[in-house]
Amino acid sequence: MRIAVYPGSFDPITKGHIDILERSSKLFDVMVVAVVHNVNKQGLFTLEERVQMIRECTGHLPNLEIDYFSGLLVDYISRKGATAIVRGLRTVSDFEYELHMAMMNHQLLPEVDTVFIMSNSKYFFVSSSLVREAALLGADVSDMVPPNVAVRLKAKWEERRQERGPLR
Ligand code: ADP
Repeated sequence: MRIAVYPGSFDPITKGHIDILERSSKLFDVMVVAVVHNVNKQGLFTLEERVQMIRECTGHLPNLEIDYFSGLLVDYISRKGATAIVRGLRTVSDFEYELHMAMMNHQLLPEVDTVFIMSNSKYFFVSSSLVREAALLGADVSDMVPPNVAVRLKAKWEERRQERGPLR
């Protein structure tokens, strides 16, 4: 059985992530979407919210498992019995970072390889960080995220707006 892990922050999941999942899940028997629990980094959404949002918008992909982990990725990969790490590539700057990560992970666990999927041109510019930033300033990001995520981002914006008062 070919098991792959797609690790990431997914804070929140975007249509770019979903596109990578739709394409990569055809290449493996089981695709594990693994939300990284970084204790040093406070996200916009909690770990549980991120997992929940992924679950809500990926029901059409039957061979997906949604999970989270903390600690070393290669340890998690071994526990899962996976042989591949899936990552998406958008820009040259993504490439440099991803190349170093892939080499490091291969060094630590030689039986695992990183498989890169090129971003769909429609979502080339979409990143969770820009989506968060724009949505919290009131932008409509519904072209970039699935409807369930757009609703939650809007609620966060409302929450912040009430705390802060109107922008000037
Ligand atoms: P991380 O903090 O690990 O980069 P992200 O959730 O930002 O977590 O991204 C997880 C993976 O998805 C990374 O490989 C990233 O390059 C990829 N990715 C993010 N957005 C897109 C997109 N719009 N198109 C293709 N790949 C993407």
